[in-house]
Amino acid sequence: MYRLENNYGKDVLKTISLLARGIQDFDQQYKEEKLEKLPSLWKKASAKLHLIGLEQGLKQNDLFPLTLDKQMEWLSTPLTAWPYPKFAELFSLEDDFMEPILYDFSVTEFCIAIAQEGQNPILEQDTKEFIKLKTPLDDTGYRHLRKFLIDNPVVRVIDRKVLKQMKNLPNEVQSKLWDLFYEPIPLTYVSDKTVSVCPRCSWTLFKDLNGDYKCDTDKCKKLTRNWEEKVRSIESGSNLLRVKRGIRRYIVDPGIIEMNLYKKLCKIGKDSGQFEVELYPNKDEYDISIKLKNGETWVIDVKDWAVPQQLALHIKPFSSTSEYAKAFLIVPNYRGEKYVEKLKVICDKGYIIMTDKEIIHYITRMIEEE
Ligand SMILES: [Zn+2]
Repeated sequence: MYRLENNYGKDVLKTISLLARGIQDFDQQYKEEKLEKLPSLWKKASAKLHLIGLEQGLKQNDLFPLTLDKQMEWLSTPLTAWPYPKFAELFSLEDDFMEPILYDFSVTEFCIAIAQEGQNPILEQDTKEFIKLKTPLDDTGYRHLRKFLIDNPVVRVIDRKVLKQMKNLPNEVQSKLWDLFYEPIPLTYVSDKTVSVCPRCSWTLFKDLNGDYKCDTDKCKKLTRNWEEKVRSIESGSNLLRVKRGIRRYIVDPGIIEMNLYKKLCKIGKDSGQFEVELYPNKDEYDISIKLKNGETWVIDVKDWAVPQQLALHIKPFSSTSEYAKAFLIVPNYRGEKYVEKLKVICDKGYIIMTDKEIIHYITRMIEEE
């Protein structure tokens, strides 16, 4: 578990977070053929890590290396195995989630998780415009915009279905939609005039020199059991766009489970006639709200963080004076039982914690007992 009280721990977390951000820059620049030199954050963090090791009196061989080939070895090893003091404690995770910062020279989900340490991911450059729109848009406009992005990570701007969906968006968003949230597909993502699309998040897949597919992180590859689900190919072209990387990461990716849960709850609510469901109520104060026949409102927040300790640190306490009868903190079933048990122990903020699968059971049972 994170212990933030001593400076060593704080310094380490901050520096590793910087390093992870530098590596993300590298990963993106490499995949988009914009890489000229090692990103400065990476260099800065490497020097700092080396220094921290010196301050701790580590042996020469145990210091974070300053050469690239040696660094690659370290970055491909889980942090808990690094010879720095307390790393096992600072970065301990369940076995399933124990992963290095880089896997197969590509950024991991864990890397992104630690890059966010102490930072609000929402401040990421690509999502700034989305946040800015939150205030001027009304509830419905905001919901339609969010849903549009989740439904259309890759889009052909002349597609009739897309144009129809766009009509739901407020006028002021329609005119700027492509500029604010989309970008052309980088040429490195095109081969034989086609673009490969991720079977999980529907963003573009990068094909490396060995012919292996890579989504933005290793998460989609893991959750599709090594692309067992079919990778689609679509024709490239100047009218094909994709959401910016930050939008994929912070809106589309979490949106997949939010939308799935929303759809399932809608169906149960409709079939039973016991409750109504709303997506992103009050401009996303929570992800989903349920209004029961007896007048009670339940709210649901879906959170998918790689590291439960970070989630526990960042979640705001559920207000005890709130008008909501119950608040659920839902994590994806694929995070596993141990993850949920751990979260229940470390996150005592008034939420009922369960998985997306469990809440469906919970609500189905409740209706059957009525
Ligand atoms: Zn994906």
